[in-house]
Amino acid sequence: MIRYTEKIRQAARQLLESGKVDVFIGFRKGTVPMMSEPTLIRNAQAAETLHWDSNCGINLANYLPKRSERIGIVAKGCDSRNIVTHIVENQIRREQLIIVGVPCEGMVDRRKVTRMAGGDILDVVEEESRIIVTGKAGQQTFDKKDVLQENCAICIHRNPVVYDELVADLVEEQKDVDRYEDIRAIEDKTPEERWEYFQKLIEPCIRCYACRNACPLCYCPTCFVDESKPQWLGKSIDRTDTMTFHFLRAYHCAGRCTDCGACERACPVGIRVRKFTKKLEKDIKELYDWEAGLALDERPPLDRYRPDDPNGFIL
Ligand code: SF4
Ligand code: SF4
Ligand code: SF4
Repeated sequence: MIRYTEKIRQAARQLLESGKVDVFIGFRKGTVPMMSEPTLIRNAQAAETLHWDSNCGINLANYLPKRSERIGIVAKGCDSRNIVTHIVENQIRREQLIIVGVPCEGMVDRRKVTRMAGGDILDVVEEESRIIVTGKAGQQTFDKKDVLQENCAICIHRNPVVYDELVADLVEEQKDVDRYEDIRAIEDKTPEERWEYFQKLIEPCIRCYACRNACPLCYCPTCFVDESKPQWLGKSIDRTDTMTFHFLRAYHCAGRCTDCGACERACPVGIRVRKFTKKLEKDIKELYDWEAGLALDERPPLDRYRPDDPNGFIL
């Protein structure tokens, strides 16, 4: 994927030079290995700073709500689905955007690589299907497919669903992946076991809200966790408050989550927050045959009424 960098720079340069966009949103290399970071550039010269590799997992759609400029934006499959969601939810207008689509081959899980490398990573070189990592213990080579983020390993929408130009040919989408094996295992538990499972899952949570901040779906001007009149939940790391935060955040994402994994990447203590949202994603698929962010011209199921909507939970 590193080969996309030059194409992205060209696209950004051309869009900024021609005045078709005021700002271009992409990635640049981070200051530490495997931490590419979002960047907003406003002139063609700055296109040289743009970068693309398998560490561009942050969801760029997060930078769109309520912007008024004309925007060029890089979008892999999941970013594009969140862009669609933003358009449908009136956070941005399609006419404002020029979407540079990146057919994605999956993002690497930095924590997994760090573990496998036996500690801090000093340098990484990315090639087509492998990454060569230098750590304190020396140099090691990993197959990219063995170190993908969990969500990327099961992603079936790697190609952008909406774009104005593409940096490469579309990739073949994954078939025959079992996306919900882990969720079925949780569903098979008794209610008591499930409660215990989720209590344990959130135990290390420090309520830093990095998961919320990384998610493009969380754009309310005041989040319910920050409300003081009324105060919906306490500010401490009391377990009930923490669980309430996670449940409510997950419900806000119902029918909207694209399983982009940005929340999980952002968590400083490594909590698998997708266990909450994936269950809802599965339910929405089964109940409404709906996957978020695939259609610009259709209202999401929780945003409309159909007489044949499932209503078993009411009766
Ligand atoms: S979720 Fe899909 S589109 Fe998004 S980074 Fe992973 S593989 Fe790429
Ligand atoms: S909840 Fe997590 S996986 Fe879902 S859209 Fe937000 S950041 Fe992506
Ligand atoms: S990012 Fe992690 S620690 Fe921070 S609030 Fe979310 S789950 Fe808790």
